Amino acid sequence: MSKVIAVFSGGLDSTTMVYDLINRGDQVDCVSFDYGQRHRKELEFAEATAHKLGLRHDVIDLSDLSLVLAKECETSLLGNSPVPEGHYAEENMKSTVVPNRNMIMLSIAGGIAVARDAQCIATAVHAGDHAIYPDCRPDFIDSMCFALTDGNEGLSAFLRDPVIAPYIYKTKADIAFAALQLDVPLHETWSCYKGGDIHCGKCGTCVERLEAIDEATTRCNGMNNTREDYDKTEYEDGEFWKEAVRQAAETRV
Ligand SMILES: [Zn+2]
Repeated sequence: MSKVIAVFSGGLDSTTMVYDLINRGDQVDCVSFDYGQRHRKELEFAEATAHKLGLRHDVIDLSDLSLVLAKECETSLLGNSPVPEGHYAEENMKSTVVPNRNMIMLSIAGGIAVARDAQCIATAVHAGDHAIYPDCRPDFIDSMCFALTDGNEGLSAFLRDPVIAPYIYKTKADIAFAALQLDVPLHETWSCYKGGDIHCGKCGTCVERLEAIDEATTRCNGMNNTREDYDKTEYEDGEFWKEAVRQAAETRV
């Protein structure tokens, strides 16, 4: 058993990771970041899940930093402009980049880990993030391991690799599959970039989420059950994703 500081957004990936870590017997503290997201929905879901699981949860306020790429500020996540709709892998999703986000989050989580004698920190970055987000790639995680180890030599309880990224070579569908196997209540996770009452079903992360859960459902049971049997999340539009995925596939050929 390790003590782990989990970077926890309240989304599907990091919520599944937290359930996964608990399932393997780790002691988990959660840390979330308020970096001025256009809505606080994810943070509310993170808070609720941490409370339900009885985990320590800290929210670090970075909102004063205004982390917006200057060239993207008109379409940034942090502005008031429309959230891009369509498939996650498309060029328009680059407007959802928050500069240096993972380094900032892992660095702060690393500091918390040293202070609390934790053996490692955990992030739920996955293979689907690699193309758009450079700080979700394996090389970056390796660099953070070196930096945290060297920067805290003699001070920490870190393992040899202080950053664990259990999903870094996994797809979003792999994570959704893990979520189904771990009985993660999917409706208690929030993915939508818009902050409505329910998931919109049309923004990039909603499309990615629905595609992943659909594939995981198929892997789980063959034909008998539908996505709705596993996923009690409400979506404004639960069908749009199919067309977005089809169009994205056509564009790629
Ligand atoms: Zn959405």
